[in-house]
Amino acid sequence: MKPPRFRYCSPESLEEALAVLGEFGDEAKPLAGGQSLIPMLNMRLARPSVLVDLNRIPALAGIERTDRFLRIGAMTRHRAVERSESVARAQPLLAEAIGYVGHLPIRTRGTVGGSIAHADPAAELPGVLLALDGTVELQSRRGHRTVPARDFFVDLLTTSADPDELVIAVRFPVLPPRSGTAWLEVARRHGDYALVGVGAVVTLAEDRRTIRDARLCFIGVGNTPVRATGAEAALRGQPAAADTWRSAAEAVRNELDPASDIHASAQYRRSVAGVLTERALALAVQRAQEGTAG
Ligand SMILES: Cc1cc2nc3c(=O)[nH]c(=O)nc-3n(C[C@H](O)[C@H](O)[C@H](O)COP(=O)(O)OP(=O)(O)OC[C@H]3O[C@@H](n4cnc5c(N)ncnc54)[C@H](O)[C@@H]3O)c2cc1C
Repeated sequence: MKPPRFRYCSPESLEEALAVLGEFGDEAKPLAGGQSLIPMLNMRLARPSVLVDLNRIPALAGIERTDRFLRIGAMTRHRAVERSESVARAQPLLAEAIGYVGHLPIRTRGTVGGSIAHADPAAELPGVLLALDGTVELQSRRGHRTVPARDFFVDLLTTSADPDELVIAVRFPVLPPRSGTAWLEVARRHGDYALVGVGAVVTLAEDRRTIRDARLCFIGVGNTPVRATGAEAALRGQPAAADTWRSAAEAVRNELDPASDIHASAQYRRSVAGVLTERALALAVQRAQEGTAG
């Protein structure tokens, strides 16, 4: 199929892109890697009258590490993240999850900002951002604002960004000492969207045997990535042991409320979420104890 007719513009600066978005509002759509937008145009699921191609704005790409966070520009390709040593060192959860995004050609074109803005509930990057309590930087002609991931993903393919706002970067805060992470997921085939995925982030107390803090973020189980906050709270102060992972898995099965669709039943998704919880927590803690983070 062919897309509906649209006007194409290819700005060479952020200011120019923001001016077009400011002028056309929800009639315009940014084009990043095109891996989701182009199929949506071809299937007539999106009908923007103007496409604002971001591919000629080099300032939007890049990976920057500070003491407090890793900042990744919106037009940074998935593949650049996958190959970055600074990502592997600073944010191993992101490094582990990114390899699950589609196939190599998709990761070569697809961008971090596109994935975050598209907000697919089975996509890895929104899940990683929420698991790490990350933030999204938005820019429009009206100004700049930073939105926590928990307020950014509001519904299926829907974010709190306004139509004239661009995602310009995302920030992943650096984890405290004695932290470990793990990303696990189940898909029908490698490269397919996950049926269920989990990111576990665990910080141990000084004795390295007690859980000080734990975060569990799931994809594929709701309209947005979902934090299992009840299970997280129950994990705090517990011993780092197999019984604890089993209880957490049970709490997750009770807490999540996935839907059935053509890919899997709700019951299957809940069951897989429990199994992945147990494995991800054990792995994250092992990494925290070994000092390998993820
Ligand atoms: C066969 C296939 C398998 C895939 N499997 C997976 C998978 O397993 N996991 C996964 O996470 N993804 C998967 N994807 C999607 C892929 O990761 C895309 O790269 C991603 O969803 C969108 O990124 P993009 O840069 O291609 O954005 P585009 O397709 O260009 O844009 C997507 C949406 O975001 C908007 N947008 C883009 N950039 C910005 C910005 N900076 N600010 C505001 N809005 C913006 C666009 O207007 C559009 O609405 C798959 C895609 C395909 C085709």
